[in-house]
Amino acid sequence: MSVDTMTTFVDIALLGVRADTPVTRRMGAGPSDDGHLVVDGVNAALPVNPDSPYQVRDGHLFRGETDLGLPVTPVRRPRFYDLSTADGVPYEQIARLHGADVLATTVVQTCIRYAVDQRCRFCTIEESLREGSTIAAKTPAQLAEVAEAAVRLDGVTQMVMTTGTTAGPDRGARALVRAVRAVLAAVPGLPIQVQIEPPGDLGVLTDLHQAGATAIGIHVESLDDQVRRRWMPGKGSVPMAEYEAAWDEAVRVFGRNRVSTYLLIGLGEDPDELVAGAGRLIDRGVYPFAVPFRAMKGTLAVREGAQPPAPPLVQDITQRIATLLRTAGMTGAGQRAGCAACGGCSVLPRAGG
Ligand code: SF4
Repeated sequence: MSVDTMTTFVDIALLGVRADTPVTRRMGAGPSDDGHLVVDGVNAALPVNPDSPYQVRDGHLFRGETDLGLPVTPVRRPRFYDLSTADGVPYEQIARLHGADVLATTVVQTCIRYAVDQRCRFCTIEESLREGSTIAAKTPAQLAEVAEAAVRLDGVTQMVMTTGTTAGPDRGARALVRAVRAVLAAVPGLPIQVQIEPPGDLGVLTDLHQAGATAIGIHVESLDDQVRRRWMPGKGSVPMAEYEAAWDEAVRVFGRNRVSTYLLIGLGEDPDELVAGAGRLIDRGVYPFAVPFRAMKGTLAVREGAQPPAPPLVQDITQRIATLLRTAGMTGAGQRAGCAACGGCSVLPRAGG
């Protein structure tokens, strides 16, 4: 890929595009607030920004009047969004389409860490609940019903299940075991990624795998303890040693490159340390899904004036991590399910990771 094209992908990840996107995500867990498109054949979850210099027109990406030669297709509204459960819950409040082919759900939409002095500064998990666009807890039966319809009607090829952290010692993982079992009973063979905090009892990782989960994300967001305390006061209190033990056990159970973690670019971490830390994750078999921090509506970060990272920083870190991944023979697609396999929130797939 030419340097210019890579620059464009970094730019649109940060500045967004002007486009009509029928599939959007306004708020929720993680780096949400975006429109979903397929850019040059690859999923892209991009900010929809009326002030962006980039525009989607006639199926192509333009900067001003210049056609950049990249085909872009907004993801169409899926048919399963028109359905509701027998008890009247719209399917789109249970799970949503991400990119062209990923079904994503937040099984428990509340988080014990959502008090203002504890919550992750970039997260809006409970805002979508407050605005009524989702329900607090999705039952295994509801998830199975929606997954079956999404696969049958809309060609979904994989599913992501995340959860807010719960008060139990499993931190929410047990609810995902039940959800995975139910979905796979309805849609045998669907690749599913589960996303959890390091559970107190690591045995639940085996239970998740035996239930049929293909991949697992255990998301630390930053490897720098100072950054973790500043940006994630609640979650940052979980010692790094717990993450390392959970990653290692997850790699033992799920296999190399079936485990991943988010690393957010732009939280103030030293770039060389971030890349070195990503290299250590790769060495232990964990895919470092590096994603630019976005200052999203509704987050504490925006209220506190946080700004997105500079494009050259995102490009530099992404390319260096992609090189490490290529050297190790790891790709996001190799995860088979989950954010790294989707790639929509990162520029890594464009850089060859
Ligand atoms: S990378 Fe993850 S959060 Fe982003 S669009 Fe894909 S599935 Fe959704």
